[in-house]
Amino acid sequence: MIRELLEARAGEEYELYARGINPQFMRVLRTIGFDRTWARAEGQYLYDADGNRFLDLLGGFGMFNVGRNNPRVRDALIETLELKTPGSVQLGVSLLPGLLAEELLRRTPPRLARVLFTNSGTEANEAALKLGRCATGRTRVLSVEGAFHGLTLGSLSANGDAHFTARFGPLLPGFDRVAFGDADALEEQLRREDVALFLVEPVLGHGVHLPPTGYFEQAQELCRRYGTLFVVDEVQTGLGRTGKLFAFEHWNLEPDLLTVAKSLSGGYIPVGALLMSQRVYDCVFDSLEHSVSHGSTFAPNDLAMAAGIATLGELDAHGLVERAGDLGAYLRERTQPLVDEFESVREVRGLGLMWALEFGEPEHGRLAWRVMERMQTGLFAQLVVVPLFTKHRILSQVAGYEMPILKALPPLVITKQDIDDFVDALEDVIRKAARPTRVAGLALRAARAR
Ligand code: PMP
Repeated sequence: MIRELLEARAGEEYELYARGINPQFMRVLRTIGFDRTWARAEGQYLYDADGNRFLDLLGGFGMFNVGRNNPRVRDALIETLELKTPGSVQLGVSLLPGLLAEELLRRTPPRLARVLFTNSGTEANEAALKLGRCATGRTRVLSVEGAFHGLTLGSLSANGDAHFTARFGPLLPGFDRVAFGDADALEEQLRREDVALFLVEPVLGHGVHLPPTGYFEQAQELCRRYGTLFVVDEVQTGLGRTGKLFAFEHWNLEPDLLTVAKSLSGGYIPVGALLMSQRVYDCVFDSLEHSVSHGSTFAPNDLAMAAGIATLGELDAHGLVERAGDLGAYLRERTQPLVDEFESVREVRGLGLMWALEFGEPEHGRLAWRVMERMQTGLFAQLVVVPLFTKHRILSQVAGYEMPILKALPPLVITKQDIDDFVDALEDVIRKAARPTRVAGLALRAARAR
């Protein structure tokens, strides 16, 4: 039935999306030439209707760690459907959620003792905020400048980027931000002993900013000292992305609360999870009356759980976590020379297969750079993202709103050859990006699209 439907209506996706869902987004895709008709996807590749292969360095915003349409995860889903498992009884439980919780807890420090499943990353963070407030009896929440934790109101209140929060206020009371990497600023806030939780990403997804040496160890110690819960948001960095199953392992941390989502179900089924300490659990779920203090109709659902178990198995079976570390090092090693090669390339950074290249104003060609940046900050990065896609068939992204930063979050199944192809393409587009004709062309298209 779905096959016939897809065949009968093939080619209508953009028109239908514009009509019934989001015409503004369609205008953006058309303007930048990303309005392809996609035929299928596998591993690290997308294929369009003309049979062209695209290398996917965006990875669905980092949810395809085990590769798109991973066969092991797909088989687990088909099997679960065929078994007609008795999930979501609601007043009753099935086996799969307990099994996935067991697998997650087996892979995390003993401090984490319980799992609460959700349907997305933002929901996992919302749960952390609610449970953290309840467990500590405090209301204040600290996060960092430049943070991203999701777009529902609680998570949004912890976001450190005005682009996401403006127009949607008032946000929740009690939320404050400190500079990422500044332990003194953190202590100044924590010292008041009224902060319920400090919520932080191991590597800031927006901009791909890494912590200074010693920061997280100190932050965790400060949280413990002042009775604040240390909450690590691994929605983007988790499940192998940075070369460890969870990025906090790089610094031997033991968070009180941990949030995961994205790749947990191999990218197939919405899923999220909050892992919490025994203490937090005991404080919140402290009686029969409070046994379901937080939850959601769809979480946990058996399909997401089956996909989660299969995804963890797939990461292990193919050594994808180590692979992310090795290939990430290779990607940085291959792209680092671009800093010397091009004046417009300021820095290459990353952890595992979370990678970014930051542009900066060049000595020569300053005028072109300034014209562009006056039109819109970060436009130079678009001048790279667009031809990477249209000319070299590589899907990438700008690392955040108005940021002159190119970012990659490829599936961890990417190969050395893919990285070599990307580096060649990158050199080509950066060389051409600052040419005045390119600048004028993009400006014209952007102006027309307004
Ligand atoms: N936290 C982080 C660090 C994220 O990167 C994201 C998604 N980009 C979220 C939370 C929100 O996850 P979701 O989109 O599943 O709500």
